[in-house]
Amino acid sequence: MCGIVGYSGHRRASEVLMDGLKRLEYRGYDSAGVAMVEDGRLVLLKRQGELDVLQKALPKFEGRTGIGHTRWATCGRPSDRNAHPFVSCDGKLAIVHNGIIENYTALRERLESEGHHFTSETDTEVVVHLMETHFSGDLRQALADTVREIQGTYAIAAVLEGSQEIAAARKENPLVVGLGVKENFLASDVTALLSHTSQVLYIMDGETVSLTPNGVAVYDHDGASVKREPSVVTWSAEDAQKGGFEHFMLKEIFEGPNAIHNTLLGALDLIENGDVLPRMDFQTVKLVACGSSFHAAMVGKYAMEEFAGVPTTLELASEYRYSPGAREAPLVILITQSGETADTLAAAREARRRGCRTLAVTNVVGSTITREVDEVLYTRAGPEIGVAATKTFLTQLLAMYLLAIRIGYANGTLSHDSMRSALSSLRQSSNMVQSVLNHIHDIEEASKMIDKADHCFFIGRNINYPTMLEGALKLKEISYIHAEGFAAGELKHGPLALLDSTTPVIAVAIKGDHTYEKMLANISEVAARDSPVLGVGLEGDTDLSRLCERMIFVPPVKPVFSPIPVTVALQALAYYVANRRGCSIDKPKNLAKSVTVE
Ligand code: GLU
Repeated sequence: MCGIVGYSGHRRASEVLMDGLKRLEYRGYDSAGVAMVEDGRLVLLKRQGELDVLQKALPKFEGRTGIGHTRWATCGRPSDRNAHPFVSCDGKLAIVHNGIIENYTALRERLESEGHHFTSETDTEVVVHLMETHFSGDLRQALADTVREIQGTYAIAAVLEGSQEIAAARKENPLVVGLGVKENFLASDVTALLSHTSQVLYIMDGETVSLTPNGVAVYDHDGASVKREPSVVTWSAEDAQKGGFEHFMLKEIFEGPNAIHNTLLGALDLIENGDVLPRMDFQTVKLVACGSSFHAAMVGKYAMEEFAGVPTTLELASEYRYSPGAREAPLVILITQSGETADTLAAAREARRRGCRTLAVTNVVGSTITREVDEVLYTRAGPEIGVAATKTFLTQLLAMYLLAIRIGYANGTLSHDSMRSALSSLRQSSNMVQSVLNHIHDIEEASKMIDKADHCFFIGRNINYPTMLEGALKLKEISYIHAEGFAAGELKHGPLALLDSTTPVIAVAIKGDHTYEKMLANISEVAARDSPVLGVGLEGDTDLSRLCERMIFVPPVKPVFSPIPVTVALQALAYYVANRRGCSIDKPKNLAKSVTVE
């Protein structure tokens, strides 16, 4: 997540680094910092907040080698202390890191017992202390030995006092080297390099690299030297920010598998060890949220009842905060992507006033809601730029399942084996999403069924009823088509009157779900009104495809987890419909990303 830059050459490093960090700002961050080799010694400056805050505090450093970082906190709230870079106890090494170190607690305990003094709450700081234990003169080798000990995801850059070398390593977080003349650059993506060079070397998972003004050497996991021809980048800076995708929304849909991976990375241990919700003194659960988060909460209600057998109610945050508040559910779970949603914040305060236990599910470490509640579960989807929630919604679903499984295991509804099997299904979900994305062109084709419509219905049952509400919301917010989601059983109570051949209906029916047959019956009712039906179902489901004009298939999945692949398919559908209609996809009219007003 977020940004790394590095420079070694003949210019003032601080200027190149600050320029690079500015160009990575779009990735989202909460703090920033730089480390440079100044007169042979390491100097460090880091600040919470915008880059301007760092810029104002920055003296005129003369050093020609350095690294910089924008942090999007995943472990430890945003603060000056938790900002990167981090420096070793002897002051000789400094590092920056993007990603999540999964086994940092055990590493930190070991390093502390060996006498290392930690200055932050981050997972990252273990990296520099480990490097210190491995360092015996070769910076890159020390980093290569260090990454062997860490689990998780990372892009890391390191500098050493008295040296012009930058060492770097990556696993699942991007890193690219920019090649210059008597100077070389490092960055999380090419956006930060384009004003200096178009010659780049992409660093691959498991590789380490050593960079000086005069050369760049890449090594594979086993330490063998890697020969790679530079690539020539022809993108504009704006294209580069979008990673070659036409819109941020599409890029973020494609980031779904990785986002799921990070959510699980951050949470599986917490759930299995019972660090989340260690006290189980509640009889009922209430889920409170707005917008897309409310739809995640609805999925959460089904999951909570399925896995934990706990009676669960739902309320919109804007309603909850003004409700009379009769006898309260003791555990209130509040879901907000940004952690700043005004209605959800007010609802959190109200829940506490009523004496409830509160738990927030949010994507942003250190956001306001994290200070208003008893406990937090982070979704760690990374920054999202498109206004329409995509990967953040997906990871909210994951969070709902994780909490339901946690509560179900703790209250005895799930045996240890069923808990493990549910978690292992969740681990499969990122592959499932990837498989939907591998067939995204079928969804693009299917979008032609909808792009000229004025009205559109989304229908589903059971745990896919909320998925369809979210599908309809996604379509209306970015394509401006009037779309409505319904529980399929409700059609005959009114909405059926509106159907004719001009109103496409998107219908999900997951074979194996106990409402599957009912869905088929509802789809027949719709087809009988001449509405074109776009079916969403499991690969190979001929019973469903026979009733539908077109199909979007998702991979085989247990019905309870089917909202995960179905959601991604519907996000992609909304995207392609909006794109065909020429809409402003990343910034839909009248909408804002973080809704901080009532
Ligand atoms: N996990 C690290 C932290 O919380 C790095 C976050 C990032 O990628 O910016 O500090």
